[in-house]
Amino acid sequence: MTYSEQRVTNDARLAERAKRASRDTVQKSLIDCHVHLAALPDGDNGCYISPKLLRSPLFRFLLWKHDLSPTEPREANQRYLDHLLTELRASQHVSQVVLLGMDGFYDQTGLLNRQHTDFLVSNDYVFKTVQTHPDVFLAGPSINPQREDAIDEVHRCADAGAVLIKVLPNAQHFNPAGQKYKSFYRALAQRKLPFLSHVGYEFSLIGKDQSLGDPDRLRLALDEGVTVIAAHACSYGLMLHEKFLPTFQELARRYSHFYADISALTQPHRLKMLLHLRHCPELHSRLLFGTDYPLSVFHMAAWGRVGLGTLWNMIRTRNRFDRQVEVCNGLGLGFRSLGDILQLSQHPRATRDES
Ligand SMILES: [Zn+2]
Repeated sequence: MTYSEQRVTNDARLAERAKRASRDTVQKSLIDCHVHLAALPDGDNGCYISPKLLRSPLFRFLLWKHDLSPTEPREANQRYLDHLLTELRASQHVSQVVLLGMDGFYDQTGLLNRQHTDFLVSNDYVFKTVQTHPDVFLAGPSINPQREDAIDEVHRCADAGAVLIKVLPNAQHFNPAGQKYKSFYRALAQRKLPFLSHVGYEFSLIGKDQSLGDPDRLRLALDEGVTVIAAHACSYGLMLHEKFLPTFQELARRYSHFYADISALTQPHRLKMLLHLRHCPELHSRLLFGTDYPLSVFHMAAWGRVGLGTLWNMIRTRNRFDRQVEVCNGLGLGFRSLGDILQLSQHPRATRDES
């Protein structure tokens, strides 16, 4: 059952849907599986930002929007978290978020190369932050499989309570289809850690190989038994033809453990995929809720496609988590919560010795 039912016309089903929606509202049952943990380097948090990225328009906008000063990193990092906590606690639908780390670029010998790394949010910082509010934060550390200690890091993160591993191949410069990463995927499968991979064009970071964002490259991980979550529902992100939709359909048909998150789908450059997906009900059970916080959530996808009252509700809802729920619900896009596929309570995290 998806969180939001498909749009229906008969009254009984509408009433049932409203009942379910209000029950879910009371339960605040959703996990947002795609929230970025942003942090400026403060000397000992292991984070890094290149001067080039610090000067980029998107980064400057985010600093301005959250009233963060790069000259006071400790205060800025705390304020970012305070804003996130305030918005999350005020949400009517979302109870927990997965905080994503961001690993760097590693050379052929498996060592970190800072010159090619734009942004690094360390796994230690992810876990430290989660520990401050374990009731609402879940850990989504990032491991570039190219790093020399990648498999050890999988086990370390699993032991520390990670709920998934995030990667961004375009910026981290690795080919997810590379055979040499097979043992990395086997470790993920063994520890039952989902692999959340960015898909499509990436323009928020600088200097990358866009072809690495092709979801077809995720087959190797799927063949090794890893639960794979493709970010942004496999949208390409350039407002053009959504060339990865057939790949999404094919992977969903072939692999029962293939999912995609709906993060950023309400953004102007990705909403074409949102509009396609509302007409693909067979894929809704594979969609997981996400926002791509701190990015904005727009309601323009709904213009002319929902009643005025519904649109007014979306406009009035300033909470980004709730607006993402309302726009997707209003457009009839079904989705689920990460909690549905984790089932942590029934299936405790596999231990290292388990085969
Ligand atoms: Zn993201």
